[in-house]
Amino acid sequence: MIQYKTPKLCVYESALFRTTSTVIYTDDMILVVDPNWLPHEIDQIIDDMEDAHPHRPLYLLFTHSDYDHIIGYHAFPEAKVIASRAFTQRTDTESILQQIKDFDDEYYISRPYPINYPQADHVIGGEEEVLQIGDTRLIFWQAPGHTNDGLFVLVEPLGVFIAGDYLSNIEFPYIYFNSSAYEDTLDKAEMIMHHYKPLLLVPGHGDVTSDIGEMELRIYESRQYIKELRASLQGGPPYPTKQLWLRYQFPRSMGRYHKDNITLLKKELGLD
Ligand SMILES: [Zn+2]
Repeated sequence: MIQYKTPKLCVYESALFRTTSTVIYTDDMILVVDPNWLPHEIDQIIDDMEDAHPHRPLYLLFTHSDYDHIIGYHAFPEAKVIASRAFTQRTDTESILQQIKDFDDEYYISRPYPINYPQADHVIGGEEEVLQIGDTRLIFWQAPGHTNDGLFVLVEPLGVFIAGDYLSNIEFPYIYFNSSAYEDTLDKAEMIMHHYKPLLLVPGHGDVTSDIGEMELRIYESRQYIKELRASLQGGPPYPTKQLWLRYQFPRSMGRYHKDNITLLKKELGLD
């Protein structure tokens, strides 16, 4: 379904995990970000795009390598692919692809395109790196923490800040890579907010927002989660798990991610 739409932007929301796919139309290009999950959802994106601007150069950006975010890669064979350097250097791509195959097998899903790991045409290795396409400026920052290969992108002059799996209003931080890196990435998000004043924040899961106060709240909640969890493991007050499940809606599946966060943080603290 469509969560948010303007003449230059469409944010689609999958029925699964409220994962977003973003399409941005400028005079110079079409940018598609993380098209996902189900074949008919990806078809809708392609149909809308072809109706709107059939001949504009197409770019496909992956915010990170989690399988749900790269699942639609080959549905856009003519697109130029943008990803972080760390994304292109992964050595576990087979296991990421296996997760897609397992998912499709589990739910009897056939796709009209092959499943492969994305090959990048534009590799983003720097900070505040700019990809200029006509009058459209894509500004990138490395965003490690959730995974090691995340990217933030700000699309100018539209002021759209695409955050990948950060700054969600429906998920607490899922930390697969490193909690300190995650905190540094939150600092970076705050810097981007204050310096560039984005007009719209698009998270990988959940709701977009144009409200700066809401963006700040999401950064605050993410920081608090990591801080309180770490402190509790270091002998501070016990983590307020009950409150966590008042704030977030799906305790059964999210409980696993919370547990995995605890395991990772313990390891970082040398506690296991
Ligand atoms: Zn992710």
